[in-house]
Amino acid sequence: MKLPKIRELTEAIKAVIKGPYTSKFPKEPHEPHPNFRGQPKFDEENCVGCLACEEVCPVEAIAHQDVVGDNGNAKRTIIHYTDVCIFCGQCEAACIADHEGIKLSNDWELSFFDRKEESYETIDKELQLCEICGSPIACKDHLKWISEKIGELAYSNPTLYLSRLKSLGIVDENIVSAMKDKGRSDRVKILCARCRRETTLTTKE
Ligand code: SF4
Ligand code: SF4
Repeated sequence: MKLPKIRELTEAIKAVIKGPYTSKFPKEPHEPHPNFRGQPKFDEENCVGCLACEEVCPVEAIAHQDVVGDNGNAKRTIIHYTDVCIFCGQCEAACIADHEGIKLSNDWELSFFDRKEESYETIDKELQLCEICGSPIACKDHLKWISEKIGELAYSNPTLYLSRLKSLGIVDENIVSAMKDKGRSDRVKILCARCRRETTLTTKE
């Protein structure tokens, strides 16, 4: 008969005293190590909707959808697909909101029955539309973030300073722009890049 080695005997004695090394999940909940890298989670308050995380994700686990309603309301839905995420943390590393818009959590239990319905999480951000053509420019929080970052330089761009004044409540959100003929008088408005270029290059008053 082959005799057990000293190391194996020591492990066996330790297991008798300390109990088994494996956890009793699912009978008992499993507590992951504090440094465990689990599913990333969005923080709706901190996220500004810039989509940098979508750009860097190596497995396309983040996507977005911009929806413009008939009533002029527009929102960006950012989607995180938990079933394809590899928890690499690139989204958190690239997040422009001081890495607070999306963060790895220690949530590891991601099993589900209905993949179509349960394998994703979403957050919504309000979109700013161009005051001439109505196409989405960026999320309102993103424009606010840019104007805060560049400070007084924002006053060289009507889209940025008007967004900032609106967010401060100095300009009424409900003021509807008149004159939308892409003339020079339309330049001091919140505009997309195309309308900004056209109103700048036009010879119309
Ligand atoms: S952790 Fe990695 S794979 Fe998952 S969403 Fe972030 S960047 Fe994509
Ligand atoms: S702020 Fe961060 S979490 Fe939000 S869209 Fe940008 S990179 Fe992603």
